[in-house]
Amino acid sequence: MVKVLVIGIDGASWNFIYKWIEKGKLPTFKKLMENGVWGDLESCVYYFTSPAWKCYSTGKNPGKLGAFSYWSFDKNTKELSLNLSTSFKSRDFWDILGNYGYKCGIVNMPLTYPPKKINGVLITGFPALEHKYTYPPELEKELKRYNYRVGHIGGLSEGDRALSEIRDMIKKRFLVSAHLLEKSHFDFFQVVIFYIDKIQHDYWKPMEENDQLYGSVIQDFWEFIDREMAKLLDLVGDCYVFIVSDHGFNALRGVFRLNVWLKEKGYLHLKRTYPKIESIFSFLEKIGVSRRFIVKMITSPNLMKLLRFFVSGQLIFKVGEKVISGETEMGITSLIENVDWEKTNAICVAENCLYILTSNDYRRYRDRLIEEIKDLRDPRTGEKIVKNVRKREDVYRGDYLHLAPDLIINPEDGYRFYDGIRKDLWDFSRKPWSGYHRLHGMFLAKGPTIKKGVRIDGARIYDVAPTILHIFGIPIPEDMDGHVLREIFEVKKESKSD
Ligand SMILES: [Zn+2]
Repeated sequence: MVKVLVIGIDGASWNFIYKWIEKGKLPTFKKLMENGVWGDLESCVYYFTSPAWKCYSTGKNPGKLGAFSYWSFDKNTKELSLNLSTSFKSRDFWDILGNYGYKCGIVNMPLTYPPKKINGVLITGFPALEHKYTYPPELEKELKRYNYRVGHIGGLSEGDRALSEIRDMIKKRFLVSAHLLEKSHFDFFQVVIFYIDKIQHDYWKPMEENDQLYGSVIQDFWEFIDREMAKLLDLVGDCYVFIVSDHGFNALRGVFRLNVWLKEKGYLHLKRTYPKIESIFSFLEKIGVSRRFIVKMITSPNLMKLLRFFVSGQLIFKVGEKVISGETEMGITSLIENVDWEKTNAICVAENCLYILTSNDYRRYRDRLIEEIKDLRDPRTGEKIVKNVRKREDVYRGDYLHLAPDLIINPEDGYRFYDGIRKDLWDFSRKPWSGYHRLHGMFLAKGPTIKKGVRIDGARIYDVAPTILHIFGIPIPEDMDGHVLREIFEVKKESKSD
């Protein structure tokens, strides 16, 4: 029998689902809350899928992982690369479980592509390609029976069709999990539901406005996940169950294009005012062809299929990157190619993160940027949009601190410091995204020695890995940043480890 089951839900947080639980719409969540402990789970800096899921699976801050966001930026070569499993320099906690002989099943875990060997099975998750995505490799053939798709965002349809594709993919995560659990024995099992994140990004405004057509999309997905979870929980019986998220969700209030601001201040220079791709977009817009339509064309599933025959994975990711954010503006990969590095002192290559390129009076320049960014305001209200701006050494610890962005912006809730570039500094359209990440996500735990019906405070994303190792009686590695959440257990377990 499985000892620990983790259901990961990307972008889950209590702030908006609690009302549905109270109304009895999510009975599985309600039951789990009554029979376990629950509360907020504080994510990492910066609270994005990448690196957050890796902070969860390693129990470490990004300074020990060597990757800080979706992208790694090399200040010397000015190269940008997408962070994949190999970019994160640490074991996952299931590697430790495996060393102790425990068998692990991991389904749809973000940032595990390309797959590494584990003691058990691994189906990788976003970002990943639709081939060579499992360990052992032959598992992929088995998954064909289910028409299983990893489902890279660039390969999704738009609108209602995307909704049914996502629903189908989520269904299959649960089906395949049930299949694996019925077929073999696992000591630890985990499945992540990733695309609920996209649904919440896209359908937040209709939810706020009680839109007749799309107002219930997010709630419908949650009810669907609740029902699927019930079936999986029946299958695993009375084991430890954890529900965790990588970050929470909230309304998006405004998008501040940090690179446009840097450009206006004279800190960032482009070779052309409007790089080629931007001029094409602008021209086509003038003659009435929308950006959304163009991006839809270049990222249509059929074209993506065709592309895969001709180009490398990295290039597909480059195209996919344009729609990772759902934005139709010039993404960071195109921007990088157009920067005049000789004249540029600072650049934002990942949301909320700033790299400083000047070595001239680095400290003074950094302090000046902090003061200027801290003072930024929403032009509609005059209110400040930044909680604080932190230096990397105040945020991260570890051997890879030197690779971290120099400044990390902590915005007020709902503001997005975007890395793309377009004419306007601000975007208040709330299109296509109207929902955005927030720091606090979801934690829930239930099991034989866990308290019942208790709300807990202060759990952090780093604490889950050591807590699960503790349940297995395994000593906690000293380099983990998290600690065992002892307060969730009814009977305090004796452990030599920490
Ligand atoms: Zn996420």
